[in-house]
Amino acid sequence: MRLELTEYQGEYQRRGVTEIEEEVEEKNRQAGRSLFLVRIATATNTTLFLDSPQSWRKRFDLRQLEKIVVSDAKQLLRLPATDGDEEVLEVASSPLPDGMLLQVGKSTKERENLLERFRETFVGVMLPVLILSVAGGTLLTLQALRPLRGLIHTLDTIITTGALTTRASVPDTRDELAELTRLFNAMLERINLLISGMQSTLDNVAHDLRTPMTRLRGMAEIALQTETPETVLREALATCIEESDRILAMLNTLMDISEAEHGAMRLERELLNAQELITQAVEIYRDVAEDKVIQLSTSVPPELFFPADRNRMLQVMTNLLDNAIKYTPSGGQVTITVTQNPHQVVLTVTDTGVGIPSEDLPHIWDRLYRGDKSRSQRGLGLGLSLVKAIVQAHNGSVTVHGMSGNGAVFTLALPLLPLPRA
Ligand code: ADP
Repeated sequence: MRLELTEYQGEYQRRGVTEIEEEVEEKNRQAGRSLFLVRIATATNTTLFLDSPQSWRKRFDLRQLEKIVVSDAKQLLRLPATDGDEEVLEVASSPLPDGMLLQVGKSTKERENLLERFRETFVGVMLPVLILSVAGGTLLTLQALRPLRGLIHTLDTIITTGALTTRASVPDTRDELAELTRLFNAMLERINLLISGMQSTLDNVAHDLRTPMTRLRGMAEIALQTETPETVLREALATCIEESDRILAMLNTLMDISEAEHGAMRLERELLNAQELITQAVEIYRDVAEDKVIQLSTSVPPELFFPADRNRMLQVMTNLLDNAIKYTPSGGQVTITVTQNPHQVVLTVTDTGVGIPSEDLPHIWDRLYRGDKSRSQRGLGLGLSLVKAIVQAHNGSVTVHGMSGNGAVFTLALPLLPLPRA
């Protein structure tokens, strides 16, 4: 209505009442009927021009418009229907520059009809569309969240039952949720492996401590018995010390391995002469090898230096040498060679002993693991774990080749230059 009013105001300013009359006529012709009430009145509110739909002339007392004085341009006049119906004719007014009055009106019935049509469209079309969208959206969300619910359920089960072997089912899709579920399962797998590794280490430690502890207790009991001869007493005390040493050695080695694995081992790196190191290690085992009639030979270049902790490297070499001699029968050979490539020093300990069965190969580096055939030999099953941990703490690597009955070859590779500290 306001738009029409502004439009007619412009028309009037151009060519006066005639222009408005023509414009109204043209609009009515185009629409096939009158759409608005258009009225022009003099300054004394006498109608000069009036056009309105035919039906409104009967339903509203349009003469009333001559009686209502328009004081405010923003004021909206409301003419009620003469038959008492709820329909109202709303009229907006605008004073024209020459004192005349321009009015445009519209019946509320049309607005009501429009609203009614809108209501019908909304209820008939929009509402079902809305309900369908909400239902579809909910369904899709539920579908999309199913893997998440699976994850939550799996987590819940693990938390309540502690069953780390539970796995979430991976959806057949190639989206992020499928990837997340796969990674979640992989993480569970890893945690499970770590925990079972820790558990078996703990079991093995407990098992391996039990024997020396029982012997220790037995010896102490014997010593406590009255009238124990002094010689027996001394023997019991000596065994007690021996067993305590064994327990201490085991605990110290376990702590060394743990420290080295966690990067907490303090390494006093210096430039080591390979020949000096090997000679020192061989000296320790020369008598043992001789007693067992094992030929011990070395091949080391004289001027080969590499950065490492002297005591830790001696520990590594003596452990490997100890094993080589231990698992090689009389008449066999143990050879240590040292070579160098552009980046590494490579140390090998080769023996002609019993070799390592392929089923033992993946486990020999585990803490407290002992091959079945090695049970007759002394040992804690910690030597190779310590070797590996120390070598890795030096940023090196250790590998083994060996088949049952064909001897074993342990190869260490250590960097020639120390890595810069992080
Ligand atoms: P252990 O105290 O039993 O020697 P290690 O950790 O040093 O413990 O070695 C783990 C296992 O690896 C041994 O029990 C043995 O079965 C195997 N092994 C290690 N070195 C050799 C070798 N030179 N020849 C054959 N088997 C070996």
